Amino acid sequence: MATPRMAPCKYRTGKLLGKGTYAIVREAIHIATEDRFACKIINKKLIEGREYLVRNEIAVLKRISSQHTNIVSLRDYFETPNNLYLCFDLCTGGELFDRICSKGSYYESEAAALVRTIFTAIAHIHAANIVHRDLKPENLLFRTEEEDADIMIADFGLSRIIEEGKLDQLTEICGTLGYMSPEVYQGGPQGKPVDVWAMGVVTYFLLAGYTPFEGENSEAEKQAIIKGVFSFTPEEYWVNVSETARDFVRACLTIDPALRPTAEQALQHQWLATPTPYFVQDS
Ligand code: ADP
Ligand code: MG
Repeated sequence: MATPRMAPCKYRTGKLLGKGTYAIVREAIHIATEDRFACKIINKKLIEGREYLVRNEIAVLKRISSQHTNIVSLRDYFETPNNLYLCFDLCTGGELFDRICSKGSYYESEAAALVRTIFTAIAHIHAANIVHRDLKPENLLFRTEEEDADIMIADFGLSRIIEEGKLDQLTEICGTLGYMSPEVYQGGPQGKPVDVWAMGVVTYFLLAGYTPFEGENSEAEKQAIIKGVFSFTPEEYWVNVSETARDFVRACLTIDPALRPTAEQALQHQWLATPTPYFVQDS
């Protein structure tokens, strides 16, 4: 990948794909080849003083792009006086968030297949000493509109490269409220286990259609997270969910990060290690 350069106008922009905190994401069509990408357009003014966040995102993406089928790769980047442009593989299938919302929840076997795939990508990222820090259904995208499309990890905007031998050096409070782990809220040392916790929340969400730590307000939610207080209720949402799946969620939502399974260990859990169809509920 070349160093950043001024926009060569080799793309034309297409429809809006999504909006984030500092960026909008639009389809970008490469004029010469007609190849389509997703272009994250970041307004330099909006990130003034925090440009390092985007530099960091680019550094992480350079380290892991084109290495794993289930990680959205950076294909090009350039800048104009006002904006930074990051061009990614285009995922036309939308966010996992929208699929959960339209389905209500996932059958257990489908949920296990998705979670297994996401964990293989997380294990890859973690092996490269990268922590994502913002795993949630809005940042998990489907490559195509097909029902069985590949799921991809996107948005490395909050991710960090952890130096070898200096694990758990991160202490800032960042992420998305309902997905942040107890150690993040407490400003304690944090590292790869924060991604496993977030996947515990994602898995719960996939199975039930709602998240585990919903409180009256964000303070109540934070307290529930710090104490690890959640349950598989209301019952009617959990009747068809196996004890193995619940055990998997419990393991990912272990309060002490040192006792939480690693991504590799999560993949060894019976729920993910046995790709047998679990009980499928009647519709
Ligand atoms: P932010 O860091 O501001 O959250 P994201 O990288 O998450 O930005 O992008 C915001 C939204 O844009 C995503 O939630 C998704 O809906 C959409 N998006 C991001 N990357 C892609 C992509 N490669 N293909 C399709 N849509 C994308
Ligand atoms: Mg995002």
